[in-house]
Amino acid sequence: MKFKQIDINCFKSFPEFTSFPIDNGLTGIVGPNGCGKSNVVEALKWVMGETSAKSLRGTGMEDVIFNGTSDRPSKNFCEVTLKLENDNKNKLSKDPEEIEVKRKLEKDKGSKYFLNGREVRAKDIHILFADLSTGPHSPSMVSQGRIGNLITAKPTDRRAILEEAAGIGGLHARRHEAELRLSAAENNLNKADDIMKQTENQLKNLQKQAAEASKYKLISEDIKRKDAGLIYLSFLKIEKEIQQNKDALNEIEYCNSGSGCFGHYFRVIIKKIS
Ligand code: ATP
Repeated sequence: MKFKQIDINCFKSFPEFTSFPIDNGLTGIVGPNGCGKSNVVEALKWVMGETSAKSLRGTGMEDVIFNGTSDRPSKNFCEVTLKLENDNKNKLSKDPEEIEVKRKLEKDKGSKYFLNGREVRAKDIHILFADLSTGPHSPSMVSQGRIGNLITAKPTDRRAILEEAAGIGGLHARRHEAELRLSAAENNLNKADDIMKQTENQLKNLQKQAAEASKYKLISEDIKRKDAGLIYLSFLKIEKEIQQNKDALNEIEYCNSGSGCFGHYFRVIIKKIS
């Protein structure tokens, strides 16, 4: 992996777009004290995903935005773009020659990362640089006082340097991500168990209600059948009464016509009594 160019815009002491080509061989930046040499190294760390404002000599991340001078107004965003030679280890880029990583920070909006113009997560940028055996905390970024720190480093810190030299830094980053995913999957599994238990309880209640509903259906059908029987019996009774009344009417008509009246009344009386 090789850095090809770093473009800085509105970052720290660079209020205007400034491009640093990094050619073959040694590239040096020479300037008087306080001209912004360390700011270029910090821009490099920042675009690779540095999250600590302290390590960029600030108190908050927005301190990296150009904060103005007596004759220049402050800015409300900053961006740094790093162009890398694509050594074809990954297929992230359409352009086989170059990978472009950009970080943009806007006031009150936080940072956004772009890989070849497409917005990506900070984690993707972290993994990209870890796979390339570099990053904002890489031992290959040697800042002031760093050599002394490496000599006096603890064995665990030296191990990080050796792992990076062996090119397995990316594996650690991936393992960490895999562990996070695993624990997220375990949480989801526990949630699914809880939901299953709740659903089982609901199922039991529904089964009970379904049994009661079918019992209700059977009973109401029985009631309907019996009601229909009662209505039929009343109908028969009413029909019989109508027939009896018709008979009585016939008898009266027969009597009014003048024949056998006494016998007729006697039959009518007997009928009424019965
Ligand atoms: P030295 O050689 O002393 O280490 P240097 O060339 O590395 O210095 P830097 O430390 O990179 O210089 O830059 C310091 C300058 O950057 C200071 O003048 C400081 O005012 C300016 N600076 C830092 N942050 C900002 C900012 N957010 N906006 C404007 N200027 C800033």
